[in-house]
This record gives sequence, C-alpha cells and structure tokens, in this order.
Amino acid sequence: MSSPDTLVRMHQVSKQYPNGTVALKGMTLDIRRGEFVSFLGPSGCGKSTALRMLAGLASVTAGRIEWPDGGQSTAADADSHPISFVFQEPTLMPWSTVFDNVYLPLRLKGATRRAVRDEVMATLDAVGLASFADVYPRELSGGMKMRVSIARAIITRPRLLLMDEPFAALDEMTRNRLNDDVLRLWAQHGLTVVFVTHSIYESVYLSNRIVVMAARPGRVIADLPVDAPYPREASFRTSPEYGQLVREVTANLHGAIHDAVAH
Ligand code: ADP
Repeated sequence: MSSPDTLVRMHQVSKQYPNGTVALKGMTLDIRRGEFVSFLGPSGCGKSTALRMLAGLASVTAGRIEWPDGGQSTAADADSHPISFVFQEPTLMPWSTVFDNVYLPLRLKGATRRAVRDEVMATLDAVGLASFADVYPRELSGGMKMRVSIARAIITRPRLLLMDEPFAALDEMTRNRLNDDVLRLWAQHGLTVVFVTHSIYESVYLSNRIVVMAARPGRVIADLPVDAPYPREASFRTSPEYGQLVREVTANLHGAIHDAVAH
C-alpha cells in the first residue's frame, strides 16, 4: 500500500536489456513528496536505469511504476509538472545565452520571452547567476554551467527532479558548494529529489533517505533513513553524527560490494 504522501511507487520493477543484461531486479520503492532520496551503489548496480525508468525514458520489463495521484506521464501532466532531469554533463546550448538556456523549457511550452522574463531572472537569481544572464556557456566555469542546468530543470516546477551524478565531474570545493545550493533549492521550492551518486559522503550530506544498491543483478539491498535535521551546513560535515552516519552507510555498501563479488 502507498501512503497518502506517495508521489511515485515502483513495484517489483525489473529491467532486462535486449542483450540479456539484468540491470535491475524486483525494485520496490515508495518515493514520498518532499523527500530527498539518494540511490547509492557501485557502478553497474542499475541506478541510472532506475532513474531513466522513473523518467519514462526507459521501458519497464516487469513490475510497474505507479503515480497514485493519477500523475501518469501523460502529455497534459507532463506539461504542467514535468519530470526534470539533470545529468552529469550540463548539456547547455552553446549558441544561446544563460538566459535563453533557462528559458528553453518555457519557450517549448509556448511562453513568450517577455511573459516569463521575471520568472527566468528569479530562477537565475536562485542559483546565483542573475548577473550572468547575457553570458554564453563557454564563458562559465563547470560549476556555473551546472547551476544553469539546475535552473533549467527547476523552472518548470517539476513534480520530480532526477539528478544522475550531477557533480561527479566537479572539484570537491565546487561540489560541496553545489550540494549546499541543491539543499537550499530543495527546501525553498518544496522539491522531491532522487539523486544518483556513488559518493557515500554526498549521499549522507544531502539525503533524508539512502537507497543502497548492489550489482549483478542490480537490486536494492538497504533503505536507510538519515535522521539528521536540516538545514545541514558545513559544520554537519565535521560532526560526530555525520561520521557515524557515514560509517553506517559504508558498512551497508561494503555488504553490497561483497554481495556483488559473491554473485
Ligand atoms: P549504474 O548507473 O548503477 O552504473 P546502470 O543502470 O547504468 O548502472 O547499468 C546497470 C547494468 O545495465 C550495467 O551492467 C550496464 O552495463 C547495463 N546497461 C546499462 N544500459 C544498458 C544498455 N542500454 N544495454 C545493455 N546493457 C546496459
């Protein structure tokens, strides 16, 4: 049974690719509104596959994905509250300014620049880039490009924000800053986030729930609450509580890796 807060429910979801690889087996998971969930696990455990199925970008081989509110990925619903995706590569249009990159999803819905100018600027402001509206992506650092990508993802007020290792290519300082930015945006905009990472530290810092996965076949082996309160700030990273949580998650993840080797 889903709780009233359930946004989306994966029920015994499996994915086998045409070449026979079982990328995911029997994944059952309720994602509740307002949660910040991380999918954590070694490479090849089906994290991206699970995310792509949630987004409707990959088909489900067995089991089902339900949106209890009737929020199936119908065209109409996708229009009002789409599912947004942020990838490791910011995938910006190099020939367009920062403003136009963030405006793109609204332009595709038929909104004029003038009608949504304030909204685009407010979103750029939320990611600290209001003064870069007229700049082209090539003039931005990696972290700034990622901020543009996040702004483009949240401007549609998505019912679900999916992030697939968005900061893996960034240096640690930038990554930490972006972690703080994402948490701030999550709280301010009341987002529901599923965040794929293979960093234990990142998953503990960000999430209120960590879904630990193992490979061959890809599957969920633990679903851990992270009860530390928000807002989490730099001091949380050095707190005993954080250290304890990291140890707990590490123990579970080691279980995942040993499991995978044994298979
Ligand atoms: P993760 O994101 O955890 O690294 P993936 O979901 O990318 O895992 O992949 C899970 C498994 O499925 C891996 O063994 C991977 O090689 C395989 N896989 C992913 N995409 C495809 C595909 N399009 N065709 C065949 N196998 C795939």
